[in-house]
Amino acid sequence: MTQPKRAVVIGAGFGGLALAIRLQAGGYQTTLLEKRDKPGGRAYVYEDNGFVFDAGPTVITDPSALEELFTLAGKRLEDYVELLPVTPFYRLCWEDTPAFDYVNDQAELERQIAERNPEDVEGYRQFLDYSRAVFEEGYRKLGAVPFLSFRDMARAGPQLARLQAWKSVYAMVSRFVKDEHLRQAFSFHSLLVGGNPFATSSIYTLIHALEREWGVWFPRGGTGALVRGMVRLFEDLGGQLELNAPVSRIEVSNDRVSGVSVEDGRHFPADALASNADVMHTYGQLLGTHPRGISQARTLGRKRFSMSLFVIYFGLDTPPPDGLEHHTVCFGPRYRELIEDIFNGETLADDFSLYLHAPCVTDPSLAPPGCSAHYVLAPVPHLGKAPIDWSVEGPRYRDRILEYLEQHYIPGLREHLVTCRHFTPEDFRDELNAHLGSAFSLEPILTQSAWFRPHNRDARIDNLYLVGAGTHPGAGVPGVIGSAKATAGLMLERLDA
Ligand SMILES: Cc1cc2nc3c(=O)[nH]c(=O)nc-3n(C[C@H](O)[C@H](O)[C@H](O)COP(=O)(O)OP(=O)(O)OC[C@H]3O[C@@H](n4cnc5c(N)ncnc54)[C@H](O)[C@@H]3O)c2cc1C
Repeated sequence: MTQPKRAVVIGAGFGGLALAIRLQAGGYQTTLLEKRDKPGGRAYVYEDNGFVFDAGPTVITDPSALEELFTLAGKRLEDYVELLPVTPFYRLCWEDTPAFDYVNDQAELERQIAERNPEDVEGYRQFLDYSRAVFEEGYRKLGAVPFLSFRDMARAGPQLARLQAWKSVYAMVSRFVKDEHLRQAFSFHSLLVGGNPFATSSIYTLIHALEREWGVWFPRGGTGALVRGMVRLFEDLGGQLELNAPVSRIEVSNDRVSGVSVEDGRHFPADALASNADVMHTYGQLLGTHPRGISQARTLGRKRFSMSLFVIYFGLDTPPPDGLEHHTVCFGPRYRELIEDIFNGETLADDFSLYLHAPCVTDPSLAPPGCSAHYVLAPVPHLGKAPIDWSVEGPRYRDRILEYLEQHYIPGLREHLVTCRHFTPEDFRDELNAHLGSAFSLEPILTQSAWFRPHNRDARIDNLYLVGAGTHPGAGVPGVIGSAKATAGLMLERLDA
């Protein structure tokens, strides 16, 4: 009897997990090697004194992509994890104007828009039509298709031109909507995948249509429960997950990967290898002695990487304050100027815009009875732009943010604080091997998207593949799940070859 072919996937982020499931279901005997003590990558989970903190993604969109993973494996998503609807999707707050509840109800959205500027109601309808057109083209048609040759890109060209993809997200929103706060409300989404709304392609307005199409969800038990569900699915299929297994080297002979070595000396042979680790880490470190690794790392070194994040995870001995929603975006006094500072500044700005997570609004089980778990994040420059010593600046920045939250959103916060930890750009670099501490890998600008992004299959080392935020289509949970589909398609077509 012939042995099944062996695939190794480096990294158990959402992209690595989704790929490992597809490969295992498709016939590869698959081993998933994860550096840390828990799976999930950016979706790691901290547990402090009975509080459960999802470290990263909290806005779960496109549940159909998740369902597809379970269905192809002959299982049902609902037997592994329960997804709870979240409404409003977000509450958007400013210091100088009432909040805007971004909901999936057209009449309610239009009522709130009309309160700000009646003319923007028609503008919003046109924006939604545009966003839906981009969603059809950029997500449904091309979101999970690998762009291996320039021909693939050229084929998409006319559509991208028709949709004016060279315009920025903010410029496109501004064409339709005049009120400045509404412009912010409909353009901030690209920040969720590491894109500057003033520089990233208007293609990313598709996130709006995607949320309107399928809603915003939260797994019962937190995003960590979704990660655990995917791990269980992978293991039920016969896959093998190794935690505390940092890969130190990808072994290549005659331009083919033969296996990988782990820091503790173990060796895992592979017929095919996919890396979900940071692209720069993959080429520069793991393949750092191979000419291909050296040349790709040099190329990547010239690219633009997304901003980083500063995240504070904190538990209170009180329930979430009345009126606080599950997801709140807290816009600061500046928008364009602050974003410029975050993407291009060399220091930390004095002001900030924040995202505040209050999961106990949807699922109180994430904190002890009568308590609440939260996280708050501030986008900050990556270490290549602002080489800040976060061991010094981190505690100061944390205190400033908590004080601001106490003033504007959570009265008495510091009096009720029972647990608190934070995660800095240096942690992204050291814990996740993220180049420059970037939170989202390569910045999603047009010239670093699709064919211009590192390809799902390496052009020279034929059985080396990429999956996750650094390859097509890019960051965000739906993005990396889509990348897994694109990469799995390439790997599985070779299975019987
Ligand atoms: C704070 C935060 C909030 C976010 N919120 C949202 C959200 O609400 N919704 C959304 O859709 N997206 C969100 N995102 C983006 C989303 O989380 C990421 O784009 C996505 O999870 C990245 O997945 P990935 O597959 O690229 O892998 P990653 O999560 O980056 O995982 C890569 C894995 O590789 C491992 N690894 C690295 N080097 C090695 C090695 N040498 N050997 C073995 N393993 C290695 C790492 O430990 C890690 O586990 C958020 C991101 C952050 C940081």
